[in-house]
Amino acid sequence: MDHQIKTVGIIGAGQMGNGIAHVASVAGFDIRLHDIAEDRINAALATIDGNMARQVSKGAIADEDRRTAMSRIVSAPKLEDLGPCDLVIEAATESEEVKRKIFTAVCPHLRPDAILASNTSSISITRLAAATDRPEHFIGIHFMNPVPLMQLVELIRGIATDDGTFERAKGFVAALHKTASVSEDFPAFIVNRILLPMINEAVYTLYEGVGSVEAIDTAMKLGANHPMGPLQLADFIGLDTCLSVMQVLHDGLADSKYRPCPLLVKYVEAGWLGRKTKRGFYDYRGEKPIPTR
Ligand code: NAD
Repeated sequence: MDHQIKTVGIIGAGQMGNGIAHVASVAGFDIRLHDIAEDRINAALATIDGNMARQVSKGAIADEDRRTAMSRIVSAPKLEDLGPCDLVIEAATESEEVKRKIFTAVCPHLRPDAILASNTSSISITRLAAATDRPEHFIGIHFMNPVPLMQLVELIRGIATDDGTFERAKGFVAALHKTASVSEDFPAFIVNRILLPMINEAVYTLYEGVGSVEAIDTAMKLGANHPMGPLQLADFIGLDTCLSVMQVLHDGLADSKYRPCPLLVKYVEAGWLGRKTKRGFYDYRGEKPIPTR
């Protein structure tokens, strides 16, 4: 049987969904892009076009490639428009309830052999798979942000994921010229399991007055050779996302070492979520970022 993936559906046209559509269309896949609201799909198409134009101006892709790639992305306002897809990647809001509802609604429209995947950062793949009619054809394909720039994709098998699905997902990642790392289905998988406790520890270091925002970031950039300081990185990821991953680790592993730092909670409660709200551990409202502590 021909198991080649040609048409890829994406549910959720936010920052991750549009990044996945971008790299997959440049790699030659036909994309059907869905979101809960059609204007969000249109906004995503404009973002992708702008991001590809930037790649053209940097010489990373030719303008003709941009035009061909853009012509491969079509809007799929209804879930039934995803019917012809060989693979559907869900990249909607990080909420188990939202994702479950999407899977229940989309499954009846998909071919029985179509693979269904989630880009979740932390929710159990096994639990999400159980909300579908095809746990054996369900897998976690976890892209990193920003998708066009980041080399890694985590593949997470649920308890029921079969070998064929895993191999096809691996082939898809390779076709995007990205590197797959395989993780078992435990809270936050590999990257966020290691990265987020480090960021949380940086916030504790700030909370306990060991160092200022600037001292902590400079120390980790120059002392550990990290390209970005941990607090700068937290602002980039979004402090609400950082807190939510720490809560998943704390709840899922029941170990006090994953206790979210009270200062992180306070920033989130203040609505200081990092770059997306223009204020987090740095204030981005002026010309250059200024530490907020
Ligand atoms: P986002 O808020 O930018 O986008 C989410 C999109 O989902 C929105 O456009 C929203 O309209 C849409 N949506 C919500 N409910 C929907 C529904 N019922 N049907 C269809 N679309 C719906 O979020 P994001 O940062 O792109 O994150 C998406 C997923 O990717 C989450 O699971 C997140 O954990 C994961 N992820 C995020 C990052 C990151 O750094 N932001 C990194 C890796 C993985």
